[in-house]
Parts: sequence; structure tokens; C-alpha cells
Amino acid sequence: MKDYVPPPEALAPLGIGANDVTDILLTHMHWDHAGGIDLFPSARVWIQKDEYDYYTGEAWSSRTTHGGIDADDVLEIVKRNTQGKVSFVKGDDDKSLPGIRFGIGGRHTWASQFVGAQTGAHLVVLASDNMYLYENLERHAPIAQTLDAGSNLRTQDRMRSLASEPRFLIPGHDPAVFDRFPHIAERIVRIE
Ligand SMILES: [Zn+2]
Repeated sequence: MKDYVPPPEALAPLGIGANDVTDILLTHMHWDHAGGIDLFPSARVWIQKDEYDYYTGEAWSSRTTHGGIDADDVLEIVKRNTQGKVSFVKGDDDKSLPGIRFGIGGRHTWASQFVGAQTGAHLVVLASDNMYLYENLERHAPIAQTLDAGSNLRTQDRMRSLASEPRFLIPGHDPAVFDRFPHIAERIVRIE
């Protein structure tokens, strides 16, 4: 991967070391999201129970049902679970972690989730791959890679209504995020 910066290195300007990270809110099992679990050895991983069950099980019965999932990431999250450090989120959930709400329905993967985070006066919604780009929002278009386009679009609408302002719905893969919010380091913006 070109210009890859390992996540612990990306966090370093905040003075946060790999072992300081206590919780990872994992939106789905694709390699470009789950691939860094092993870099944060002491963290608890929060994942949808259905996502975990599917990609540690039935998804591997057919060649066509685990695209984008790296077997090493599956082994890593199973290992983390045997250490008692995986928390299973069951559907929409705003009780398990103070200030955090999880939501499903994007169907980017089997049970991909989005995350709402209360930051001061605002609820910021991190769509992750349930909404790749600002263009999805502007054109009211489902993402190309979803198991259910109707459910994806309804979930985009729900994420937009949950965010305290439209600008606080953050797409998963749009570099424009780095133009729309103030930088506190070269690769870190403050969402406020
Ligand atoms: Zn993905």
C-alpha cells in the first residue's frame, strides 16, 4: 500500500501509544479496518455479534461470501475473544458504552455497524463504509458494495438524522474530510 502509516504511528502526535488504546470500535471485518487489531494488544474490541459469528463461521463455507476478509484478522479476533477482550454488540445499542451509540442496517458486510460519539454538544456519526463518500449523501445514493441497497440508503438517512448537524456525519473513505475540519497534525483533524 502506498504511503501506508501504521495506526499507532498515526496516533503518536496525540501522545497516545499503542498500549494506551483501551477500546477499538470495529465497524466491520474488512481487512482495511480489522487489520490493525494486533497493533493494539491491550484493547477491547467492540463488534456486532452477528458480524463476528458470521465471519468466524459460515462465511468460509463458500468462496464467494468472505470477500475482503483476511483470515489472519479472523484468527486475531478469535484469539482476542479467548482473552476475554471482545464485547459483542447486539444490533442498535446506546447503553453499552457511555457517550457511544452503535447502529446497524448499512449492510456493507454481514452486520456492519456505524458509531455515534457524543463530543461536547454534538453527536458525531462515523459512518465507516456504510457511507463511503460525501457524494453518497449529496446524490442520495447507496454505496456500491452493499448486501442490501435499500437498507443501506435507509441507514444513511438514519445516520444523517442522528448526527446533530449534517456536517457531523463522517464518511468512511472520503479524503475531503481532511479539507472540511481543522488539522491538529498532518493526518489528524479535529471534528467539532
Ligand atoms: Zn469495508
